Amino acid sequence: MTSETDRSSNPVLVRKYGGSSLSSVDRIRTVASALAVRHAEGIGLVVVVSAMGRTTDELDHLAHQVSQHPARRELDMLLSVGERITMSLLSMALADLGVPAISFTGSQCGLITDGSHTDARILEVRGDRVRDALDQGMVVVVAGFQGVSRDREITTLGRGGSDATAVALAAALGAERCEILKDVDGIFTADPHRVPDALRHATLSYDEMERIAGAGCGVVHHRAVSQAREHGVPLFVGSSFHDAPGTLISAAATAAAPATAVADWRPLSIISHDDLALLEVFDPAAPLPATLAAAVAEHPPLAEWTRQDGDRLHWGVIGPSAEISRLRDLLPDAGRIVFQRGLDCLSFAGPPPASWLAVRAQVTSSLAELGIDGVHLIAVDGVLRLLLPPTDAARVLQPLHDLFLGNHG
Ligand code: ASP
Ligand code: MG
Repeated sequence: MTSETDRSSNPVLVRKYGGSSLSSVDRIRTVASALAVRHAEGIGLVVVVSAMGRTTDELDHLAHQVSQHPARRELDMLLSVGERITMSLLSMALADLGVPAISFTGSQCGLITDGSHTDARILEVRGDRVRDALDQGMVVVVAGFQGVSRDREITTLGRGGSDATAVALAAALGAERCEILKDVDGIFTADPHRVPDALRHATLSYDEMERIAGAGCGVVHHRAVSQAREHGVPLFVGSSFHDAPGTLISAAATAAAPATAVADWRPLSIISHDDLALLEVFDPAAPLPATLAAAVAEHPPLAEWTRQDGDRLHWGVIGPSAEISRLRDLLPDAGRIVFQRGLDCLSFAGPPPASWLAVRAQVTSSLAELGIDGVHLIAVDGVLRLLLPPTDAARVLQPLHDLFLGNHG
């Protein structure tokens, strides 16, 4: 049994809970009970929390009700509050269970970022106060998603940025691993709510997880995966509600050998996105405005591509409808413009196939069997994207999963 006074040599575990796992007082209490069990085992626990439920969206909405263009510094002051609420409540819940706990903001942990408000990058994690509190046997609860710049301004790390906080702390503290606990059981070959026989990946390499995250799977933040790879931090993704095996992401691991699927090419995951828009410009009469590039950079879309063919330009983007509409408004009305809202997207993430042509043929013939033709299909950045009206997307997901990922062995 470890004494409460000397825990300095104990293994450290960094665990991050997402907003839906902390969306109510009951859930916060449930999380506290699970943590109390690990603490009693003598593990040094650092718990990174997100804002409760949809708090960050609500705060952002509030800002935009007050001002059309809120200053990004002030947005950071506001948005960082969400995580402070959760960290203090969780510490109180732990104390009620007799577990010594202390909460820290990103700034108090010495999480130093660059000065780019609302999308800051982590430069350094000092972590002295975290280490001291761990040495005193405390559970350390950290507000995710935020840090402080060298100019002592509060910054946030971009939406979903608490994962990055967790990985950065795990690296700085030399933690055994970093656990990202959510309302899902791990990384699957498709959303198990939409494809009931989707398979969980028990293990993935960093490279494989980066491909899945980069294709737009929101389960783990893509920047957090790159950081984990850089620092060699093993990442575990699993359920916050029950003890389930989850997905372990590390350098050694790799996805299980493919079962014999009909198609030669086997993606790692088919990711569903709803309510997207497509914007394409063909052969514009004038150069595209610089404000367009700046707007794309500010809210990176799901995919962007361009092709120059002599003096003919083709440029396209897919992304959330509201953001793509804003881009549409920046375009001069010259040249041919395609703008379509209310589309769903199925993204096939994985190592690229030997040829996209063969994959395209398989997809189109499989869709034709379902009576769907004229589908919009784009392969860019090693990801195949199918754009479909929502009813078609719901109908084709299972058959396409059967074709490319089904167990036909
Ligand atoms: N609460 C922030 C967000 O919703 C950060 C996070 O959840 O990781 O984006
Ligand atoms: Mg959140």
